Amino acid sequence: MLARMDTMVQDALKDGHAVPAFTCYDFTTALAVVEVAERLGRAVILNVAPKTAGNPSGLRLVSALRQLAEQATVPVAVQLDHATDAELITEAVKAGANAVLADGSASDFEQNIAFVQQIRGLLGPEMVIEAELGALAGNEDQAFEQSAAGLTDPGQVAGFVQRSGADLLAVAIGNVHGRYKGEPKIHWDVLETIHRVCPIPLVLHGASGIAAADLSRSIGLGVGKVNLNTELRTAVLKTVEHQIADRRAEGQNLLGLLGDWDEAVQAIATETFTSLRTSVA
Ligand SMILES: [Zn+2]
Repeated sequence: MLARMDTMVQDALKDGHAVPAFTCYDFTTALAVVEVAERLGRAVILNVAPKTAGNPSGLRLVSALRQLAEQATVPVAVQLDHATDAELITEAVKAGANAVLADGSASDFEQNIAFVQQIRGLLGPEMVIEAELGALAGNEDQAFEQSAAGLTDPGQVAGFVQRSGADLLAVAIGNVHGRYKGEPKIHWDVLETIHRVCPIPLVLHGASGIAAADLSRSIGLGVGKVNLNTELRTAVLKTVEHQIADRRAEGQNLLGLLGDWDEAVQAIATETFTSLRTSVA
């Protein structure tokens, strides 16, 4: 069933879980992710990249994901990820997204707040809005090695949340988009301080490459939504590379290759759901 992203994340945190948000560039991936969520009885978020939504038929994918969410037997939210364009945000919501990341993190503090307020004004009080404070290094759609950039300043968090009216807050605590240069280093002191002052659930982007134990620990510190993209893409491309010769030899068996794709996504999604709890059993 279609569900509010903020509510599902709060419920998950109460149960000692975080909700994974998987980037869906295509419908095959989304189907696989929802199938795993249903099998495990867990809520899930389908993320749509702004570059996808902005494609000529991108909004149709958003509508298709909305249908998928409505038909699912577990809570599903459809989010427009990292949006900086008010027009695209409005169109994506019209097409069926029920959450957006109004991303003003590249601007300064005041402009970031003003952008989130502008989007709140456009979408109304009921729409679920995630905001981001702090600069996350890297590119969401392409994985290159990154070092962490500007961390979120815990001293800015309470004021930002109160004034922006955001429902969830993405933070920079040593996480990056893409692949980590060396070992990921989470700044626990920063996360602990943010957790103490932040009244809304926290979001961790760029979770690919962060150890399961570290993800567990972050859930105990208020991280209720974890975005995954790189790991998913890596698994799918590796599988396609491995299977493509055989599938060609089978008479251009695209159906078989999509089955391989589905399996690769299901494997990563299953592993992700299992690791996103405060104590890994
Ligand atoms: Zn992100």
